[in-house]
Amino acid sequence: MSVLRRMMRVSNRSLLAFIFFFSLSSSCLYFIYVAPGIANTYLFMVQARGIMLRENVKTIGHMIRLYTNKNSTLNGTDYPEGNNSSDYLVQTTTYLPENFTYSPYLPCPEKLPYMRGFLNVNVSEVSFDEIHRLFSKDLDIEPGGHWRPKDCKPRWKVAVLIPFRNRHEHLPIFFLHLIPMLQKQRLEFAFYVIEQTGTQPFNRAMLFNVGFKEAMKDSVWDCIIFHDVDHLPENDRNYYGCGEMPRHFAAKLDKYMYILPYKEFFGGVSGLTVQQFRKINGFPNAFWGWGGEDDDLWNRVHYAGYNVTRPEGDLGKYKSIPHHHRGEVQFLGRYQVVLKILKANSQVSKIPGARFVFGTRLRDPDFYQLKLFV
Ligand code: UDP
Ligand code: MN
Repeated sequence: MSVLRRMMRVSNRSLLAFIFFFSLSSSCLYFIYVAPGIANTYLFMVQARGIMLRENVKTIGHMIRLYTNKNSTLNGTDYPEGNNSSDYLVQTTTYLPENFTYSPYLPCPEKLPYMRGFLNVNVSEVSFDEIHRLFSKDLDIEPGGHWRPKDCKPRWKVAVLIPFRNRHEHLPIFFLHLIPMLQKQRLEFAFYVIEQTGTQPFNRAMLFNVGFKEAMKDSVWDCIIFHDVDHLPENDRNYYGCGEMPRHFAAKLDKYMYILPYKEFFGGVSGLTVQQFRKINGFPNAFWGWGGEDDDLWNRVHYAGYNVTRPEGDLGKYKSIPHHHRGEVQFLGRYQVVLKILKANSQVSKIPGARFVFGTRLRDPDFYQLKLFV
């Protein structure tokens, strides 16, 4: 050491001072280095705390609403809108035993023995011929894909509306999956595939309005399910009946890591009674291209004084058939949309297995007199 000191001609004190300032500067540097991390962690904790507080307030709010507004739940397994962690409300669900005897004079129960829960969803391609081959054996399926249970009185007459253009490979997968599930649920049902013609941007919402009009001309339905063609329920206890309140079925999508993306999310699969659909004045017609129309529906539902129910826990899980957006356009103007009434005309063509409604133009524009929601 002394050799080194002599060589560098520095005193003892300066060496100590050097060591002191060096360690000071390095700890300063270290602090500058870690500070953003600490700040981030701190901010995150503050945020998380805020979220926790909000969640708690929400939970208390939900509990109060649950006790004061019994109508906000569909059946004993439901929880009110907006809450994606339903643990605090999970109830024991009793499904009927295998030896349950049906009666053609009594309403079909909602919790049937063959609704066993998790479904292994197979999204591999299947041909339409295969679908026809499989389901033509079932003589109870009438032309147009209409089916009703015979061993009990169906609780709901359900029209499943599917907006459609150029997704031909999705449709048979959809039917293969949905038909047996709805049969197990002992619902009366038919599918309406509403295909958009022409090259205009896709208008999912208007197709639903067209489908509603056409379905109601076709039969007297009481529950309408608005269903994306690429969404397949992963749980057959996700009961496709309607309720006192509009219902959002597709609460947990695999493509969103089974998390509800935001509280107001109302996309994928939803269901309203005919009365509710009329009261909210249907879907908006002015959303051309991807996005926004489901948020508008959420607004309409709330404007009409409804809440939205969702299936409890894992019941609302969906697998989506992977797809690309083949040159479809996002509707960039969806936040400043100017709503207008569209005149129109449509025709129905019946094909075994499903009803197809072609065209985008509506015959009776008066019904679609729109309220302004942006
Ligand atoms: N759709 C269709 N053809 C299209 C665009 C949409 O048939 O070109 C229908 C289809 O039923 C689809 C739904 O509209 O499931 C929603 O559109 P998309 O799947 O593109 O929305 P994303 O899954 O990206 O939210
Ligand atoms: Mn999709």
